[in-house]
Amino acid sequence: MVEKTLAIIKPDAIKKKVMGKILQRIEEEEFLISGLKMLHLTKEEAQGFYIVHKDKHFYDPLTDFMSSGEIVILVLEGEDAISHWRKVMGATDPAMAESGTLRQMFGSSVEQNSVHGSDGPETAEWEIDYFYKEKKEEE
Ligand code: ADP
Ligand code: MG
Repeated sequence: MVEKTLAIIKPDAIKKKVMGKILQRIEEEEFLISGLKMLHLTKEEAQGFYIVHKDKHFYDPLTDFMSSGEIVILVLEGEDAISHWRKVMGATDPAMAESGTLRQMFGSSVEQNSVHGSDGPETAEWEIDYFYKEKKEEE
């Protein structure tokens, strides 16, 4: 099934100057990029995006990290885009991520793991709305 997913290149990856490598991988994997923008989130915007994790011990440092610098927010389209992108990212903890995955290659810790991807169809819709609501309404 053709799906859309929300991908983020996190601040650690931008600082490491691997944004280009990640975008190249996205194209090599044959995703269609139908949204791309660079933003520097406020703490409040990062808290809103990660609201599902509000009770986790890592919520406060995670939202500090995600608002610590520029991020690139993408909408990726393709066959099974949600699971395809999660496979390309690899496990949350780079130390556990399979060889050749983005997190294994570019992540430096379970928090600073270089990329984000939606985890299911409802989450993808909610996350795309969170950053691309106006665009969606125009369609
Ligand atoms: P994923 O990004 O793989 O879907 P989660 O949704 O569980 O993982 O977590 C969201 C983000 O929170 C992770 O990508 C990572 O940046 C951070 N995170 C998750 N677990 C931890 C942890 N145990 N310690 C610190 N940060 C974490
Ligand atoms: Mg998640």
